[in-house]
Amino acid sequence: MKGSLFLIRYHPLIPVDNGEMDYRPLFPAENEEDVKSDFYLEEVVAAIFRLKSQRAIAPGACENLKIRCPLCGNIMRRTSSDRDSFKHGYYTCDKCNPPKPKEVKI
Ligand SMILES: [Zn+2]
Repeated sequence: MKGSLFLIRYHPLIPVDNGEMDYRPLFPAENEEDVKSDFYLEEVVAAIFRLKSQRAIAPGACENLKIRCPLCGNIMRRTSSDRDSFKHGYYTCDKCNPPKPKEVKI
């Protein structure tokens, strides 16, 4: 075994100074220990990210954060609630990872 094929990447997040609670990802790190920012994204699978924090954050307190997509900069959609004080919701980008279209009746 020489490690997993899929390399998990960590994107540090910095606040955008626009008063909108936007967070913008920086260049990703390969080791979680290298991330120094308060919030960061763990890329779980391609274009699906889990928001994580260095310090404990009360459940639900992150819900209003707007997280930008590391790939295209679009604000991502939150798809799950917080798991604990350090692991927060999942986010996905509808531009990079579009949801399956609803069945169309012909
Ligand atoms: Zn995107």
